[in-house]
Amino acid sequence: MLFYDFLGNESLKERLSGMFRQEKSSHCYLLSGPEGSGKHTLATLLSAALQCTGSGDKPCRSCPQCRKVFGSNHPDIIFVDDEDKKMIPVEQVRNACADVYIRPNEGKKKIYIFPHAEKLNPIGQNTLLKILEEPPAYAVFLLLSPNPGLLLPTVRSRCSELHLAPLPEATLLAALRQRCPGKQEADYRLAASARYLGQAMAKLKHAARSDRAMEFAAAFAERDALAMTMLLAPMEKWTRDKLLPMLQEWELLLMEALSARCGAAEAAPEVHRICSLRTAKEILAAIEELRLAQIRCNANVGVGAICGALAVKL
Ligand SMILES: [Zn+2]
Repeated sequence: MLFYDFLGNESLKERLSGMFRQEKSSHCYLLSGPEGSGKHTLATLLSAALQCTGSGDKPCRSCPQCRKVFGSNHPDIIFVDDEDKKMIPVEQVRNACADVYIRPNEGKKKIYIFPHAEKLNPIGQNTLLKILEEPPAYAVFLLLSPNPGLLLPTVRSRCSELHLAPLPEATLLAALRQRCPGKQEADYRLAASARYLGQAMAKLKHAARSDRAMEFAAAFAERDALAMTMLLAPMEKWTRDKLLPMLQEWELLLMEALSARCGAAEAAPEVHRICSLRTAKEILAAIEELRLAQIRCNANVGVGAICGALAVKL
């Protein structure tokens, strides 16, 4: 089995393994499944397998090509998306389609990943279709979508569809225990009801988040200065020992939002909300403020002054 560490989805993995062994890979794949079902993980594995120069099973994970794919710095893997826009601008699709004719820099393939193919409007899809009908031999397209029904039948018929299934409970529970150790058994079971690893991990993280962190997430996402002040005001009477872990938790939450903006799949709803309402620059600035507040905390600056400064800056 080539995609051995991709959880569940046995028949899909067998199909892919067969395709790679017979060197019959497709030039367009549609990876479908709900949020947190593993579309992004599978896209990375598939990209690595396509670029891999190792001699055995692909992806070997150790050749220079695999390392670049897993390190997210392969020059021939191009993401087509605009995270600040609801739909992918047609111009961006046109640019990608023009770029297809420039040969790969160093890889065997030039791979175009559409992490949110549901954001392609019909004009964008028709632009893409022209390339899908007659792509250069080295071009591969990976379309990821929770809702493949939004694609035109003409586009869909050009793709090999890889549909991601829910995971068996035992597989999911084992994965959760391994990836998020130290939780209550009841929390694992509750999280496993999500059926997909990404959603279950988000549920588990959510279970561990404090009410105050949830309030912070909401106030920050909504730019609600009043709610932020109300949240911080009572904290001015806290001790530094109590304040510091809270600041760390808030920072962690924003770090999650930042990585969600960069395409990480497993995001809890409150994290998703932040990254859909605030820009990466704003999130980064807030992280800097929280780090500064922690430094001040450690430098014995008064808690009132720290919280006051945060109320102004956040
Ligand atoms: Zn390799």
